[in-house]
Amino acid sequence: MRRPMIAGNWKMNGSPADAAVLARELRLALLDLPAVDVVVFPPYLSISGVVDTLKGVDISVGTQDIHPEDGGAFTGNVAGPMIRASGCTFVLVGHSERRSYEKESGSYLARKVQAALRNNLTPIFCCGETLDDRESGRALEVVRTQLREGLGELTPTELSRLVIAYEPVWAIGTGRVASPEQAQEVHAAIRAWIGTTWDSGTARAMRILYGGSVKPGNVVGIMEQEDIDGALVGGASLKAETFEGIVRFQSSRS
Ligand code: PEP
Repeated sequence: MRRPMIAGNWKMNGSPADAAVLARELRLALLDLPAVDVVVFPPYLSISGVVDTLKGVDISVGTQDIHPEDGGAFTGNVAGPMIRASGCTFVLVGHSERRSYEKESGSYLARKVQAALRNNLTPIFCCGETLDDRESGRALEVVRTQLREGLGELTPTELSRLVIAYEPVWAIGTGRVASPEQAQEVHAAIRAWIGTTWDSGTARAMRILYGGSVKPGNVVGIMEQEDIDGALVGGASLKAETFEGIVRFQSSRS
């Protein structure tokens, strides 16, 4: 039985003070929801305030990125040991905004996954096709390639420490959500790929989240799908009330 997860990606929004307020609101709103793992990803400068605010409650904190090296002359970057020392336990790797704006390649992302695992951080590895990929019938092939490049060298034990998030690029921040059938098709393909590349036990245990314009109003059909184990939420995670609505729905099903 896979434990569901709802993750909130706050992206580059709000001041550290705003983030602490949001964390305080979530702390109150999500006190009684034990059946679902909740993680939030604030901007770097807000991490310390959010970790302090969430101390003692069951909401984990992660960073939106990690550098492949553990330290050194890499101006502007943040390394795994620093992330771990700040109280974070999760890291986003391969978000489409970083793949596209920061030109992060598959092999570079594979090094980030290794850095996260080496530092005892759980990577949420994001993958997903563009609209062009989908319209030309290449969605599954693109997703499999991203997974192979980012995760292909991992052992089954390493892979089991990961969470995967399928996020079609055309659904991120657009208000256009994948239909439950479209999402389920890709999630099932990801699970099948893990089964054939590693083994069926690893595939069955892997948590695969859906991301792309998830809101309380559209979460129902998506979360009912067999291979969807939760959501990675962007815009709707910036307000405690909407994020709570999504977490509460998932919790009520568990
Ligand atoms: C995201 O950035 O991971 C995301 C899914 O964003 P949104 O929910 O706003 O589409």
